[in-house]
Amino acid sequence: MAIKVYIPGPFRVATNNSSKIEGYGDDVGEVLKDVGRRYPGIKALIFDSKGEVADHVCVFINGRDINTLQNNGTKVTEGDEVSIVPAMSGGAVPFTEEQIRRYSRHIILPQVGGKGQRKLLGAKVLLIGAGGLGSPTALYLAAAGVGTLGIVDFDTVDISNLQRQILHHNHDVGRLKVTSAQESIADVNPDVQVIPHALALTSENALEIIRQYDIVVNGCDNFATRYLVNDACVFLNKPLVDGSIFLFEGQASVFMPGRGCYRCLYPAPPPPGMVPSCQEAGVLGVLPGIVGCVQAIETIKLILGIGEPLAGRLLLFDALSMDFRVMRLRKDPSCPVCGDNPTITELIDYEEFCGAPITVG
Ligand SMILES: [Zn+2]
Repeated sequence: MAIKVYIPGPFRVATNNSSKIEGYGDDVGEVLKDVGRRYPGIKALIFDSKGEVADHVCVFINGRDINTLQNNGTKVTEGDEVSIVPAMSGGAVPFTEEQIRRYSRHIILPQVGGKGQRKLLGAKVLLIGAGGLGSPTALYLAAAGVGTLGIVDFDTVDISNLQRQILHHNHDVGRLKVTSAQESIADVNPDVQVIPHALALTSENALEIIRQYDIVVNGCDNFATRYLVNDACVFLNKPLVDGSIFLFEGQASVFMPGRGCYRCLYPAPPPPGMVPSCQEAGVLGVLPGIVGCVQAIETIKLILGIGEPLAGRLLLFDALSMDFRVMRLRKDPSCPVCGDNPTITELIDYEEFCGAPITVG
């Protein structure tokens, strides 16, 4: 039997703006299930992961709460009207209609849903660098609705950056990268709060800045910062999503607290001058796009708690052979920072340790 179902404003994005749709069944549960089958967006909005009507949604029949009747088993007959009414207070902050439209492709994914989207909006991610790696990461995290993005970069935009640093545009040349990034992100998604840190990360300020965030994404271009960020994340128990690029090759990995760190892999940097910077050696423009996107996906997985993080593994990407390889990583018990008897227990002088100043690339 066809029963009229009233759809509230914020949910109409899933019903092509219809405020009334029809559902078929002999009781409320059947009608709702039928509606969910034909409108997957509605299914994601009204049912929880167990397939029950979510706690923040009430269902009424002819104005009476089904909880006061026979719940889902309440019989329906011709002419009855079922109304779906989401809670507006006392629970999670409801999405605005615009947010439901903006994030609809996330919300209909069972692995994300409204709950996951709220986690993304509540997450605080720190990006080290608004360059080649930080650009795609920042844009995708912003588009996905990661609510707070801190960006550390003291540099200004140079025209030679535009070959790969897609956060920045022609009119940004000469401006601070964090300012340019803030504007680009606001254009993508005004839900995102950008916290600019227009400074060089140092042993003096790193802990204080990193402490404010849930996850750190490393897109830096020099060894001093890479080791500084690694050590600071170990000391603060913050997950670190690492990425690096060189010529035509990239690397990415996730270091979870207690499960190894960058120094378990590379206890010390190469001697100064052995590995030239991108500025000296060049880099294929698209390459950081691939690695930065891998970092963005890993960050979103960590926030949502889905899938297997790229932890204990090192992804190697070779653009010329179009080859992705995964190396197994282990936590090194003799690691100087996260090992059983660490020799480094506080931040050190990384410029001296790496034998090179913090450069700009
Ligand atoms: Zn380690």
